[in-house]
Amino acid sequence: MSYVDEVLERVKAKNASEPEFLQAVEEVLDSLRPVIDANEEVYRREAILERLTEPDRQFKFRVPWVDDKGQVQVNTGYRIQFNNSIGPYKGGLRLHPSVNTGIIKFLGFEQIFKNSLTGLPIGGGKGGADFDPKGKSDREVMAFCQSFMAELCKYIGADVDVPAGDIGTGAREIGYMFGQYKKIKSVYEGVLTGKGLTYGGSLARTEATGYGLLYITQELMKCHGESMEGKTVVVSGAGNVAIYATQKAQQMGAKVVTCSDSTGWIYDPEGIDVELLKEVKEVKRARLTEYAAARKSAEYHEGRGVWSVKCDIALPCATQNELLIDDAKALVANGCKAVCEGANMPTTIDATKYLQENGVWFIGGKAANAGGVATSALEMTQNSERLSWTFEEVDSKLQQIMVSIYHNIDDAAKRYGQEGNYVMGANIAGFEKVATAMIAQGVV
Ligand code: NDP
Repeated sequence: MSYVDEVLERVKAKNASEPEFLQAVEEVLDSLRPVIDANEEVYRREAILERLTEPDRQFKFRVPWVDDKGQVQVNTGYRIQFNNSIGPYKGGLRLHPSVNTGIIKFLGFEQIFKNSLTGLPIGGGKGGADFDPKGKSDREVMAFCQSFMAELCKYIGADVDVPAGDIGTGAREIGYMFGQYKKIKSVYEGVLTGKGLTYGGSLARTEATGYGLLYITQELMKCHGESMEGKTVVVSGAGNVAIYATQKAQQMGAKVVTCSDSTGWIYDPEGIDVELLKEVKEVKRARLTEYAAARKSAEYHEGRGVWSVKCDIALPCATQNELLIDDAKALVANGCKAVCEGANMPTTIDATKYLQENGVWFIGGKAANAGGVATSALEMTQNSERLSWTFEEVDSKLQQIMVSIYHNIDDAAKRYGQEGNYVMGANIAGFEKVATAMIAQGVV
C-alpha cells in the first residue's frame, strides 16, 4: 500500500466522527500523491503526513455568559493550533451554531497550506464557538466575546497565535475580544487581526478576501486570453467575502447577478446593488427579503439555487459544501468557464472533479481566498512596525500576492505534469514549503 493510502486509512480510523476534516485531508493527500510518491522513503521516515494531519494542540472550553433576560447561557469555544513550522499560528474565529470539533479541525488543516501559499511567515490555526451572533443585542455579543476571550487569551499572543475574523466574527466581535485581551493581559499587541482602523487595524483588510478572490480570478482569465469585462458572475453568500467580491467584480466591468444567505437567494438581472446589499447586511443585519423589497429588478427565492443561473464565472462565497454535484452539472450545462472559491471548501469533492473533467477552470479556496489571511499578515507587519500603510499600499501588495499565488500554483501543477489542475498545484506549493521547514526543524 502506498504511504498516502496508509496514512489516509489511519486518519479515517482515528477521526471517523469528523467528516469535514476527513474530506479536507482526503482532498489534500490525494493531490499530493505525485510529490509523495517521488520521495516516498524520506517522507515516510519523517512521518510527514502523520505529523501534518495531527494538530500541535487543540483547546475546547466552556463559554458562559448572561443574556438580556438575566439567563445564563453556555456555549463551547474552540481553538486549534495545527502547525507553526513557518510562523505563528494564524486563522479566523468562526461564530456559528454549526461549529464543532470537526469543522474547526478541517478549517485549521486547510489554513496550513493557504498560509504557506501567501508566501508570508504564518502557520495554521483556527477557532470559534457554536454561538450565533444573529438576533443578539450588542450587549449580549459583548458578554459572549468577553467570556470567550477570558479563556482564549491563555493560548494566544502576537508571536504565538493570532486569530482573525471568519463567519459571524466581524469588526464588532474582534473589537470586543481585543478589548478583553488588553484588559486581562495589560499588553497592547497585535494579537488579533481585522481590528478597527483607530486601534491597529489595516486599511483594505475588510475588502481583502473578496478583492483578492477577484485579483486571482482576473489573472486566471487573463492567462486564458479572457478578461472580466462584460462577464456574468454568480456569487453565493451575502457576507464579508461575497460583498467585496461583488464590488471588485463590478469595478472590473463584470455583472454580478446573484447573492444568497442561509434562508434564500436573490436574482438581480440588472446587477447586484452593492451599496444596498451593504445597508441590508452590514448595517441592518437583516434578511435578503429586505434587499428584494427595496429593489424593483430583484427576485427573491426561498432556499438555495444560485448555481442554476447562467453565468461565465461562479464564485461560492458562503460556506462549506454549498456547491454539490447537481450544481456543478448545471454550471457546466450553462457554459460556466471558471469557478473560484471565496469560501472554505464550498465545493464537494465529486463536484470539483466534475467541473475539472468538464473543462471548467477551478481554483480552490486555499489559493483563491488567501487574500484575507495575507492582508491579516500585512496587518501584523504594520502592528510590529507601529505604522499604518495607505489603502493603495496594502491593496497593491494584496494584488501582487494574489497574482504570484496564481503563478505558483500554475507552475507547481505544470512541474508534476498536471497543467491546469490548480487544486493540485495549490496543495503541492503549500505543502512543499511546510514540509521542508518541518524536516529542517527536526522531530518536534
Ligand atoms: P459572513 O458571516 O460575513 O457571511 C457568511 C455568509 O454565508 C452569509 O451570507 C451567511 O448567511 C451565509 N452562510 C453561512 N453559513 C451558511 C450555511 N450553513 N448555509 C447557507 N448560508 C450560510 O462570513 P464571511 O463572508 O467572512 O465568510 C464566508 C466564507 O469565506 C466562509 O467559508 C469563510 O471561512 C471564508 N473565508 C472568509 C475570510 C474572511 O476574511 N472573512 C477569509 C477566507 C475565507 P446568513 O447571513 O443567513 O448567516
